[in-house]
Amino acid sequence: MSPSVPEIHARPTARVPRRLRQEVERILFTEDQIAQRIRSMSRGIVRDFTGREMVVVSLLNGTVMFLADLIRNLSLPLRLDFIGVSSYGAGTESGDLVFTKELRLDVRGRDVLLVDDILDTGKTLYQVRDRLRVLKPRRIKTCVLLNKAARRVEAVEADYVGFEIPDFFVVGYGLDFAERYRNLPFVGVLHPHVYARAAQPIKPTRPGKTRAQG
Ligand code: 5GP
Ligand code: MG
Repeated sequence: MSPSVPEIHARPTARVPRRLRQEVERILFTEDQIAQRIRSMSRGIVRDFTGREMVVVSLLNGTVMFLADLIRNLSLPLRLDFIGVSSYGAGTESGDLVFTKELRLDVRGRDVLLVDDILDTGKTLYQVRDRLRVLKPRRIKTCVLLNKAARRVEAVEADYVGFEIPDFFVVGYGLDFAERYRNLPFVGVLHPHVYARAAQPIKPTRPGKTRAQG
């Protein structure tokens, strides 16, 4: 873990909007905190990639917001492409990785910045990095908004990390649970009852009773 990476903030941050209080336990990083952190991360990236043929390769779909804010702060020439990966079904554990979109740009001899939303077990970055190496880039640097170091299974670390977080399941700022919550402007901790409920098998309901949906 890099000592310059901020841990989660001990002091209470903003309050969860009323409409989300049943689902989001608390806000970990506000929009302002994220913006500030991205500005400082970007300075390091610009320093390292200046004068290089830079290709940003971003993993769909979780990086949408992070990527948009990140590249706005990268004041140097770059190309952008995406790889589609899907590892979660509706649950919170990584399953097998499915590639849903392949890279189109040629990265041979170029300097790649591989961007993901969160580094958890490391299975995703590990496999994607292997797939990219075959294409013979000059080098691959990895960049994630969030790092859950305690959950690591594969030997992979990110070169640029926004924030270190403990083992919470987080949503917002691009990160989803069952494809929801990506549009929240902050990163928050999902109430475990939300995913516990979604994991339950659907029981037949008695006539006349409706069942709350996860
Ligand atoms: P890994 O392969 O490192 O276990 O997991 C990486 C992927 O799992 C991320 O790209 C992200 O899609 C998903 N993921 C891991 N932890 C979380 C989390 O706390 N919240 C959400 N929404 N997705 C996560
Ligand atoms: Mg993802």
